[in-house]
Amino acid sequence: MEQKTIENITVSVRIRPLNPRELASGGEKIWENSGSAVIKDKTGVRSFIYDQVYTETTDTQEIFINQGVEVIEKCMSGYNGCIFCYGQTGSGKTHTMHGVRKTNPGVVPLSIDYIFNTVQQSSNKEFLIRCSYIEIYNESINDLLNQSLLNLQIAEDKRNGIKIIGVTEEVCTSSAQVNSLLAIGEKHKNIASTNFNQRSSRSHSIFRVIVESKNTFGCTEVAVATLNLIDLAGSESANVHGPTANSARSKEMKCINRSLLTLGTVIMRLSDKKNNAPIPYRDSKLTRLLQPALEGNSKVSIICNISPCNDAFDETLSTLKFAQRAK
Ligand code: ADP
Ligand code: MG
Repeated sequence: MEQKTIENITVSVRIRPLNPRELASGGEKIWENSGSAVIKDKTGVRSFIYDQVYTETTDTQEIFINQGVEVIEKCMSGYNGCIFCYGQTGSGKTHTMHGVRKTNPGVVPLSIDYIFNTVQQSSNKEFLIRCSYIEIYNESINDLLNQSLLNLQIAEDKRNGIKIIGVTEEVCTSSAQVNSLLAIGEKHKNIASTNFNQRSSRSHSIFRVIVESKNTFGCTEVAVATLNLIDLAGSESANVHGPTANSARSKEMKCINRSLLTLGTVIMRLSDKKNNAPIPYRDSKLTRLLQPALEGNSKVSIICNISPCNDAFDETLSTLKFAQRAK
């Protein structure tokens, strides 16, 4: 089996609008697109090419159609997939992934609708859809659908691949049912303020949809694929050098470093066709869990979120470089 298929990873960048805080403090927009795939800074000194660059006028629906649908369609036909949002806190990851119900839905609710539409319209296939919702926080896997299930362990066996032991998996038959699961998970998310004095999620949250499918007639073989929709922790936590407020916070930072840094290395090695260096999936919970959805014939879409503002320059540059390395 082919282990590295760069064509299977797409990397896009989404620039959000200036926010009220940036506007109030006289922040300036310094990043803009140049054509559909290039982003450059105002001075023109730095420019980067990706599969696609989205600006503040693009809505999530369009991003979903261009960056998400293919991943989901592959899952419906038996291949694992991941859609990630990467970027510093406040750059628009959760806006992109979850959005605002009804008025501006994110990738997760749009994916759910797409999946159930496909199920309904499919006359020659039967599907079984199961969902789970977890977070990885301090290298612990916690069940967002059942608050009492903390620090769940990963198991691997030849037949079933990688599993989270004891995680809640709900069989779902409608978007409405999934939406109520999402609402439960949102309540349980671990949100706290960071050293930057902002509310922020320091955990990685992963909404997983397990798609089992088989042909209605003839062949009875069941295909199983997992779709992972991932709202990553703020990328600033992977490159904070300053002293941290206390030791608990410091532990937290280190653990986020591990999952985010390992993810960066894994994605880079996957993209690097020439280099046959080993891929360190086992170095973090995030990459271990996602391994089956990153390697082989899996389909991966990485959406990198950035602020257009001059005062976020360093973080934005680091996100753009991450995105560049992933390509
Ligand atoms: P993150 O999850 O990366 O920390 P959020 O998604 O919470 O960031 O976004 C921070 C704020 O910016 C939120 O109030 C969000 O609604 C707003 N925002 C982010 N992206 C956009 C966008 N593309 N259009 C409008 N508002 C946005
Ligand atoms: Mg967020």
